[in-house]
Amino acid sequence: MRKSILIAALLFAVLAQSLEAQKSPRFDKYFHNATLRIDYIRSGCMKHDTCILRRFVLQNDIWAGSTEQLLDPIDNGEFRLLVCDAATGLELYSRCYNTLFEEYRSTIAGRDKDSIANFEEVMLMPLPQKTVEIHLQKRDSKNKFFTQARFLFDPKRDKPEKLQRHIKARELMVNGDPHTKIDVVIVAEGYGKGDEKKMAQDFKKFADYTVGQGPFKERANDFNIWGIGVLADESGVTDPNANRYVKSAVGSTYNIFNMDRYLMTYELFRLHDLLAGVPYDHIIIMANCDTYGGGAIYNYYAFSAVQEMSMWILPHELGHSIGGLADEYVEDDPNYNRRYENIEPLEPNITSLVDFEKKWKGMVNPGTPIPTKPVEGLGKRDNGPIGAYEGAGYLAKGCFRPCTQCMMRNYADFCPVCTKRLHEIFDLYTR
Ligand SMILES: [Zn+2]
Repeated sequence: MRKSILIAALLFAVLAQSLEAQKSPRFDKYFHNATLRIDYIRSGCMKHDTCILRRFVLQNDIWAGSTEQLLDPIDNGEFRLLVCDAATGLELYSRCYNTLFEEYRSTIAGRDKDSIANFEEVMLMPLPQKTVEIHLQKRDSKNKFFTQARFLFDPKRDKPEKLQRHIKARELMVNGDPHTKIDVVIVAEGYGKGDEKKMAQDFKKFADYTVGQGPFKERANDFNIWGIGVLADESGVTDPNANRYVKSAVGSTYNIFNMDRYLMTYELFRLHDLLAGVPYDHIIIMANCDTYGGGAIYNYYAFSAVQEMSMWILPHELGHSIGGLADEYVEDDPNYNRRYENIEPLEPNITSLVDFEKKWKGMVNPGTPIPTKPVEGLGKRDNGPIGAYEGAGYLAKGCFRPCTQCMMRNYADFCPVCTKRLHEIFDLYTR
């Protein structure tokens, strides 16, 4: 009798453990309501790269992300942060992302195996109560994640650095508790002394543009938007082509990787230092310069100059940085060297038709020919019917998009495929 009770107890323990492994771990059992920031350097080129830990920072006294959905269910991005309980191996937190390094790798300089470059990278996670293993992962040739670098964080031993808060965040649009909202912080870049009034006006514009289109507009009440304004000695940002060099707030520059319109910053540690104490899931850098420019990387940041096209550029860039969406346009640029032979791209809104089932095939009306012919004479904002239209992800051949037009192609409305993914992402923060 005692033996069968013991067996039943053992079975119950095994069952309880496997159930725990399947669901998202309980936040209050493993984490404090605070934000740990991990600063590291990624150093490498096309052939190889490695990650070097710099420091841990106590970034905020609260955690802005969800306390319910700790494991990232969305399989997108070349990289993943995976945090496991050191004692049991239980997966506690994960987040997929892309990096500026990955962009570099696809450029002419990055493809040269001897051109090693260093990139600052930053990840945020809830502050652990017990020792955790922090895995920095990337994908292999079959798109499976493997651990590239592993660090231990022991809360008793590793005391994260505390930063002085110099700048108070402006409340641009606050709708509720950061745990159940998508928290976006807009960082003002390139504003000099005397630009204070313009900065306030631009903050208002950019907050409106953030929730101005498609699913962002529909879900505006699910967003909190904060502003961080720093005044530098002079206005504008660095533009090497114009022989202009400015000491701006977050060190941004045009002509990143020799692409004149690519406006970004390499200085991630400085950027995140400015954001200590702000609850944020996503970053927008708003640059005070009227030359067309910007860029964005999934779960990294979005960048846009303030100019007449910003109301369209910003939602497009947020499609990348928040939604992990691909560009649906074609660009004949030798800097972009991606090919999708025998493999599906990771992004949800482009397909090589290698595994169309996994993408939006279920949303296509039966009888629609694949590939699909683009519709002529559509209105500027219209998408046209869902199909698979050749020409996407910078490639004229071998890569297909869901509709004739989309925000991710030519600033039309977000197509139904992009819209669906954006709602899925928003739900990760709000449910
Ligand atoms: Zn789309």
